Amino acid sequence: MAALKHLSLRKAIIAACLKMNELGINQGTSGNISARIDGGFLITPSGIPYEKMKPEQIVQMDLGGGYFGEYLPSSEWRMHYDIYLNKPDAGAVVHTHATYCTALACLHERIPAFHYMIGVAGGTNIRCADYATFGTQELSGHMLKALQGRSACLLANHGMICFGKDLDKTLWLAGEVETLAQQYWTARQMGKPTILSKREMATVLARFKSYGKQTKDLDKGEALAVEPPPRRDGAAASKTGPAKKTAKARSKKPASPRRPAARKRTVKKPVKAPAA
Ligand code: 13P
Ligand code: ZN
Repeated sequence: MAALKHLSLRKAIIAACLKMNELGINQGTSGNISARIDGGFLITPSGIPYEKMKPEQIVQMDLGGGYFGEYLPSSEWRMHYDIYLNKPDAGAVVHTHATYCTALACLHERIPAFHYMIGVAGGTNIRCADYATFGTQELSGHMLKALQGRSACLLANHGMICFGKDLDKTLWLAGEVETLAQQYWTARQMGKPTILSKREMATVLARFKSYGKQTKDLDKGEALAVEPPPRRDGAAASKTGPAKKTAKARSKKPASPRRPAARKRTVKKPVKAPAA
């Protein structure tokens, strides 16, 4: 028998499925996971419990929408397929029936910018795709519309779907989106959450481009999301983030890297006695 191709990726997909249930963002055989390979993708088979899933049961599909082997791909292969065709950055896709995402999706509600972390999905909200029967091209079409400029969306009366660079990042994103759904749901029990302005979200989204990156991980010409404190060990200072400096601040001599800048002494004004 020929050796199984992509063995480590097949194992990583099964591990991600088990993790997704362990994290409490999916249950049973609901949900499905895939990862891109050259000329196509690998996807979980339909209806097989993750604890029993074997690497040879992971299904290979090509970019013409065909599959190889004896196992049927996930009934949601169309959504995964359409993401790989339309989102060049997608290296993995995670679909779950996460409880809070699903609860909001059953109300056909989007998650607004009630929290700045909404930016992790690429925009100022996480939309809810219109309802269509599971496994249909119609559902996939609604999903693509809701994913415009986003890497995650809710699926009405169904669940959520997201994509990312690789399996780890995509599973992380699925967890973040479910956390946001839970936080939004909880805040709504107590009142009307304040929604962040478009202007504030533009600042947040600019910062998200390099958020979480260490200096060594920055791309060429990329700046840190947040201006770091002064570095004391004499090494070259890190590039600073998008926070704009005023002309006055720019002209100021930077504080010595070894000695902290002297504190400005403030003189207290005598408090005037109130007029009788
Ligand atoms: P599959 O077992 O076919 O992947 O289906 C699970 C699911 O979530 C359908 O929407
Ligand atoms: Zn589903």
